[in-house]
Amino acid sequence: MSLGRVLADLSEENQKELVLPGGRGGKGNVHFATSTRQAPRFSQDGEKGQEREIILELKLLADVGLIGFPNVGKSTFLSRVTSAKPKIADYHFTTIIPNLGVVKSIYGDSFVIADIPGIIEGASTGIGLGIQFLRHIERTRLLLHVIDVSGIEGRNPVEDFKTINEELKTYSEKLATRKQIIVANKLDAMQNQELLEQLEELAKNKNIELFKISAVTGEGIDDLMNRVTTVLKELPKEELIEVEEKMVYTLEEKDEFSVTKVDDEYIVEGPAVERLMGRINIGDNESMHYFQKVIRTLGIEEELKKKGVKEGDTVKFLEWEFEWYQ
Ligand code: GDP
Ligand code: MG
Repeated sequence: MSLGRVLADLSEENQKELVLPGGRGGKGNVHFATSTRQAPRFSQDGEKGQEREIILELKLLADVGLIGFPNVGKSTFLSRVTSAKPKIADYHFTTIIPNLGVVKSIYGDSFVIADIPGIIEGASTGIGLGIQFLRHIERTRLLLHVIDVSGIEGRNPVEDFKTINEELKTYSEKLATRKQIIVANKLDAMQNQELLEQLEELAKNKNIELFKISAVTGEGIDDLMNRVTTVLKELPKEELIEVEEKMVYTLEEKDEFSVTKVDDEYIVEGPAVERLMGRINIGDNESMHYFQKVIRTLGIEEELKKKGVKEGDTVKFLEWEFEWYQ
């Protein structure tokens, strides 16, 4: 058994995936009714099924992910544009579990925003509030990269932008290429205009859209949200989680068997035999007729004869012993 392989991505409503088929057989006797056998007495036992342990992992299904350092205003922003009530404080890591908020129709169609706890340097390597939060933004289609441009906390917006993107890249190349919009926040508290200008320069060079807002006063938020709504409409709903291996277990269909003579006994084994024995009811006449018919059609009888079986010999089919008669 292997761990960590993705079997199926259950992201659609009512989506069904077969990961383990049931054993075959188990047919009731109606199935065996033929014109000459109107009231058949035998039914098939079901074959043994197989067991498999599967881990179901719950992921947030958000369209938009908020990323950025702690304290840059992600939770404040979320609480402003949605009815979510995230914890807001001016100390780092107030958001310890991801918050989801639904943006309703004032901005067009509704969509879901996830506020991911601040990514700090090294998150992808497990430092701080690590990787488990990055997982939640894996399937967002758009990232809003919130950056504090005010200078009140002594942050450098350009450095912050680069650091967070490095983190994303270390975690997942794919995530690093997801569309981003820079959200330059705390416009109401600007202390150093130059910081914003540097970030705007960077955004221009990298061809990334930048919106200036204040999550506290609400300035610029409508423009940003209108743009987000449009972008979401344009972005395809791509399959963001790749199913690495579509692994449905199938039952052996091989008609393989082997006949070995051990001392005076004939041992018949192999997948074909296991399947057959799993389906019959020993002790039921009709079932035994079926058994005889199948060992003939599979060529088991022929093989036994080739190996020299004669009247009165013991033939073993798995744990069942039979006396051979012609
Ligand atoms: P998060 O860690 O990114 O979720 O940041 P929070 O939303 O918890 O905000 C951290 C601190 O920054 C809080 O004290 C907020 O009140 C403050 N803050 C957030 N947005 C703004 C803003 O636009 N202007 C100002 N002046 N402060 C803000
Ligand atoms: Mg927060």
